[in-house]
Amino acid sequence: MTNPMKQLLTATTIATAALLYQPMNAQEFPRIQESVLNSYPTYAGDDLELKIDNAGTHFTLWSPGAEAVKLNLYDNGINGKPYTSLMMTADRTNGTWRMSLPSKLYGKFYTFQIRINGQWLKETPGVWAKAVGVNGKRAAIIDFAKTNPEGWENDTFVKTPHPTDAIVYEMHHRDFSVHDNSGIVNKGKFIALTEDGALSPNGEMTGIDHLKELGITHVHILPSYDYNTVDETRLIDRQYNWGYDPLNYNAPEGSYSTNPADPATRILEIKKMVQALHKAGIGVIMDVVYNHTALTDDSNFSLTAPDYYYRHRPDGSYSDASACGNETASDRKQMSDYIVNSVKYWTEEFHIDGFRFDLMAIHDTETMNRVAETVRAVNPSAVIYGEGWTASDSPLPVERRALKENVAKMKGIAVFSDDIRDAVKGHYSRAEDRGFASGKPGQEETVKIGIVASTAHPQVDYSKGSNSKFAYASAPTQIMNYVSCHDDLCLTDKLRKSMPEATDSVRMRVARLAQTIVFTSQGTPFIFAGEEIFRDKQGVHNSYKSPDSINAIDWNLKKINREQFDYYRNLIALRKAHPAFRMTTAEDIAKHIVFDKVTEPNLVSYTIKGNANGDEWKEIKVVFNGSEKEQTVKVGKGEWKIIAADGKLNKDGLGTMNGGKVVAAPQAALILAR
Ligand code: CA
Repeated sequence: MTNPMKQLLTATTIATAALLYQPMNAQEFPRIQESVLNSYPTYAGDDLELKIDNAGTHFTLWSPGAEAVKLNLYDNGINGKPYTSLMMTADRTNGTWRMSLPSKLYGKFYTFQIRINGQWLKETPGVWAKAVGVNGKRAAIIDFAKTNPEGWENDTFVKTPHPTDAIVYEMHHRDFSVHDNSGIVNKGKFIALTEDGALSPNGEMTGIDHLKELGITHVHILPSYDYNTVDETRLIDRQYNWGYDPLNYNAPEGSYSTNPADPATRILEIKKMVQALHKAGIGVIMDVVYNHTALTDDSNFSLTAPDYYYRHRPDGSYSDASACGNETASDRKQMSDYIVNSVKYWTEEFHIDGFRFDLMAIHDTETMNRVAETVRAVNPSAVIYGEGWTASDSPLPVERRALKENVAKMKGIAVFSDDIRDAVKGHYSRAEDRGFASGKPGQEETVKIGIVASTAHPQVDYSKGSNSKFAYASAPTQIMNYVSCHDDLCLTDKLRKSMPEATDSVRMRVARLAQTIVFTSQGTPFIFAGEEIFRDKQGVHNSYKSPDSINAIDWNLKKINREQFDYYRNLIALRKAHPAFRMTTAEDIAKHIVFDKVTEPNLVSYTIKGNANGDEWKEIKVVFNGSEKEQTVKVGKGEWKIIAADGKLNKDGLGTMNGGKVVAAPQAALILAR
């Protein structure tokens, strides 16, 4: 085949001399001074790294500190030598390096290489690779028009009038479909979620049908960008990783595709997944981890613009608020833009409905506000939340961090409530510690903090809060309520460790109470996949690289624990049918929620009054009894419809009863309405 660029090669080819040097990683020369990094010109163009148009293929790398930049072109995504290497041309006004070639190089792969302090660094696919070869070492040049499934032009976001209308289900692709009994063909793949009609051996619906049956509104998928650990060339080995080790932020992970060696397949297949979920009325929230990279000196950030994308300590070492070896610097313009443009890209290209920011407090509140504003301009229903904490200290000043305590400084962003989490089920890392639902006294006020979504309420005394001492949220839309997630012990394991004497039947009762607190509290509820069928992880609290035998959901449990599943299904239906549980302002919460004065331990009782948030129910009585004995509460006189009692729940009612002195069964929620 004729080489379309033959005439360009004579002047610019680096020839075999390029192979004589040993490329270096980025820490083998002194740190670049902060003042130098901060004076770099930035570049806001949307053509970064690769653009293809009728004039040909255009490469633009932002690397202000480089002395020279080379573009390597390959026929393959892995192995072999470049068929050509070309020197790029600097534009010192904006820190970019450019190279244009006069044809569409579809099917080819490329890397960049920069020279700094007289040394060539290792090759990198850059930071904006949208398609990559196997294991993400080289960027791929593909025709994106060919990555759209049929009907993609009609695919659109799931509408969520308010974030509090979302019901979020957090899942890992392998956990959800990889078990032998999942009934799913494409186990552990993006397209597992496109398979209708999958059944467990005992006839229960699994896969996407299970999600529809349960009634959740959004799946939150654990990291699905290209991550580092799993070797995509040997998938037969059943490797497992959560994926909090980012490699290429703008390309999907290869191990979740049916053919990681073909750069277009993973893109097509994640779109098919999104499309199938959207058809089922379910939105897709993606877990994003811009706060650190898997590699440090050899990361794509370090190899394109050494030192710029990371924070450092005064001694020049990498600061490490992620506890993963580095932390990124969203307070620098080009990094802030990077995060904003990356989520915008996932929103526009993949129709992703929202984002969960890992260790969000490593980012600054201004960047997070730009994220929310930019994403909402494309999709007003986007659901955006994050962990409002860091894993370790950061040089970023506390007042600038996107911390839980600073959530009111952000607009359209929610944080996880560790308040409700720890109060209800017990401390997240002290395995044996119990919570309100499992019988530990003293957590009542913190449960109330959870019920009002950490907003100011005249009857809630924040000085008695276990985790937070002030009302940090200014609206319930800023709070994600949960009792467990992929981190730490899942709820089943937590209850087994903290209630060693109890039976599973009792623990399931306690789990129902715990999730009823989550799903009736103000804010947005969030559940970890499989808890609806009482899945466990064999007591492994940090299963990030545990085998499938620990992480996979055993779908036979759905039949065995069908009552548990039905309870959750009904609980979700209750929340969806009743806006009183989904108020959108702190003022409404303060006005409509009235707590009863109860002093007994493990008892919380309140009323939602006045057709709150347009609810058809004038009054809702909610009583949580986390103790092992019956407790008596006073309920307004007259007839009530029983919605939940003694571990059972039905939004349409379980019968009726009269008010007055009413018995609340142990370890259960009592919900009455009229
Ligand atoms: Ca990967």
